[in-house]
Amino acid sequence: MELFQHIKNHELVMFFNDSECNLKAIIAIHNTTLGTAMGATRLFPYKSEEDALKDVLRLSYGMTYKAACADLNAGGGKAVIIADPKDKTPELLKAYGRCINSLKGRFITGQDVNISVEDVNQIRTETHYVVGVSQANPTQATAIGVLEGMKASVDFLWPGRKMKGLKVAVQGVGNVGKILCEYLNKERVELFVSDNKIERAEEMKYKYGATIVSPSEIFDIDVDIFSPCALGGILNSSVIHRLKASIIAGSANNQLENYQTDSKLLESKGILYCPDYVINAGGLIDVYYERIGYDEQKAFYKIHQIYTTLMEIFTRAKAEQKTTLEIAKSIADEKIFKAKKSTERNFNRYSNKK
Ligand code: NAD
Repeated sequence: MELFQHIKNHELVMFFNDSECNLKAIIAIHNTTLGTAMGATRLFPYKSEEDALKDVLRLSYGMTYKAACADLNAGGGKAVIIADPKDKTPELLKAYGRCINSLKGRFITGQDVNISVEDVNQIRTETHYVVGVSQANPTQATAIGVLEGMKASVDFLWPGRKMKGLKVAVQGVGNVGKILCEYLNKERVELFVSDNKIERAEEMKYKYGATIVSPSEIFDIDVDIFSPCALGGILNSSVIHRLKASIIAGSANNQLENYQTDSKLLESKGILYCPDYVINAGGLIDVYYERIGYDEQKAFYKIHQIYTTLMEIFTRAKAEQKTTLEIAKSIADEKIFKAKKSTERNFNRYSNKK
């Protein structure tokens, strides 16, 4: 593997090992122009170390763009622990906490797939550089942001139409997906759900009258909105050709297998794509405010801004004949560029004074 070729867009990639408790973790810091790197920790039984590296690189890249589009003074980072969830022990989590602590605040982390609030609390026994354990509720905030994104999409495509009566398919009803279903049920949409863990789908059927669809068939059903809330990389050319939805709006990170070709394919099929790192920023916004001093009003105002940001992206994409992803990226790139220039100016001013 040409390692440096793989990490050429990242500032720092670190590998942590603790053989005593079988800890293998990778932390990637993508870009800190806007602030300290923030990004949750995912625990996953990756098939190979290369898969884990690929995932952490893509996820940390997404965090830089998520923070920038949400207008936060935060940079992008992410961590993955290579392990089967059944092998997760307090010792492993504590050892991981010591790894985070050794970075002395260069990376702030929290909860992602297979890491619960209890796990974050375990990590916190070894380090203060964790978020999402006191005032913030990142999963709820993410679900609120996704709902805002769905509303923006509906208002953009079908002005005047209500959520009530729309058909929505939710792929994955874990931490975020199940809260999203609760909110969608309040909006009186018709729910279709799938989950690899059938008991989770059954809970949604029992609570909200959702129709259960098998994980392999969720892409084929005739719905208005498809909401990916499971894992990344699920939208590729063969899946996109099966979709009947007009809108894609979900919490999963890295939904597109290939950013460029898949976003263009979605556009050519007339499917409105909410860029994942814009629509799922609610959790990051919430924990960012926890970090700088929690102010619920400010945090929720910012989470609801996801509606406005997406409206701007949809409007510009239409006017400039670009994909929604291209517009989102250009908004973020511009913010990062301006911040870099401002830092350089301040540095030059300071050096000239000396
Ligand atoms: P989770 O692990 O609690 O839930 C994911 C669910 O998807 C699980 O129930 C799992 O069984 C199911 N699943 C996995 N593969 C599936 C498949 N192919 N078909 C159907 N179901 C499948 O994770 P979560 O915290 O709810 O996060 C969901 C997604 O949202 C992840 O991609 C995560 O990175 C992203 N995200 C989460 C947050 C957050 O605050 N938790 C914030 C931003 C983004």
